[in-house]
Amino acid sequence: MLHEVLNQIERRRNFICTSHARPDGDAVGSALACAQILRSMGKQANVVLSDGVPGIYRPLPYADSVLSDLGQAPDAEAAIILECDGIARTKLTGLESHYLINIDHHDTARPFGHVNWIDPNACATAEMIFRLARQAGVGISPEVATCLYTAVLTDTGSFCFSGTNEATFALAQELVRCGADPVKIAHNVYFSTQISKMRLLGEALRTLHKDGSLAWMHVAHRTMELCESREEDCEGLVNYALAIQGIEVALFFREQSDGRFRVSLRSKEAINVAKVAESFGGGGHSCASGCAIDGPLSVATERLIAQLRIRGYDNHSRPEKVQ
Ligand code: 5GP
Repeated sequence: MLHEVLNQIERRRNFICTSHARPDGDAVGSALACAQILRSMGKQANVVLSDGVPGIYRPLPYADSVLSDLGQAPDAEAAIILECDGIARTKLTGLESHYLINIDHHDTARPFGHVNWIDPNACATAEMIFRLARQAGVGISPEVATCLYTAVLTDTGSFCFSGTNEATFALAQELVRCGADPVKIAHNVYFSTQISKMRLLGEALRTLHKDGSLAWMHVAHRTMELCESREEDCEGLVNYALAIQGIEVALFFREQSDGRFRVSLRSKEAINVAKVAESFGGGGHSCASGCAIDGPLSVATERLIAQLRIRGYDNHSRPEKVQ
């Protein structure tokens, strides 16, 4: 499939590179790197992300040139959609008319494109973009290496998620050899937290509940307003619940302005949370997934716990609020 992707790229000149709304590190890093690799191949390429670039990824090379609307980009013949399971999740209008090249590493990836390169064994979509550059004979510049390393670092949960293996570290080593600075990148991603995110973490921890090996917490829409937080401040908060000793699965609920809840699901290993998210129309990986679900919160929690039970979570103790 990589061969077919390159074949289709060869036949065209102008590209859009995009990914899902509320982009994470792999979405941003892979799209920025992909566009630059296309430029090195003599193509024209623009990155379009409907929600723009979250603050922690703005130090990335080329982040300033990201557009948020297809209308801002010159007409393109093809759209390369990265780590996204369909056009709808990009929240961009007008993609339908393009030739669609779908590159994704999620377990729940779907073949919605004209050409679909899906590899759930890749630790991040960035790994696939690295392979694309190598196959195309394009050198990896320090800037591209920085984008790809950031994507790998964040999508493997700092090399903690299941699936992290020898090949992940070999890729990281190669990216550092090409010029990525792991210390600077780690500082930008992990030591540049906005105070609004810290306030939100405090509020979320106040809501921590535990039921056997399951933990969950939530933030209400009003709490987001009081903390002056943005959606991106929620990224990674679920990991604080997963970090608790004895917890196997963690959930983080964010109330949206329409009363629905966006849910982040994380699993240490035993339970496949991609299957749980998929049953609510979402998706992701076996250890990290997401979905949206109707409120109220008590009903949403019950529905998720019921699905977790179907997937093997078998604790029947009474939920308790952690003091
Ligand atoms: P997060 O909880 O950080 O938003 O997402 C965790 C993982 O699940 C990421 O790989 C993300 O791309 C994926 N994911 C989150 N929400 C959705 C969704 O609504 N649909 C699909 N297909 N994947 C999602």
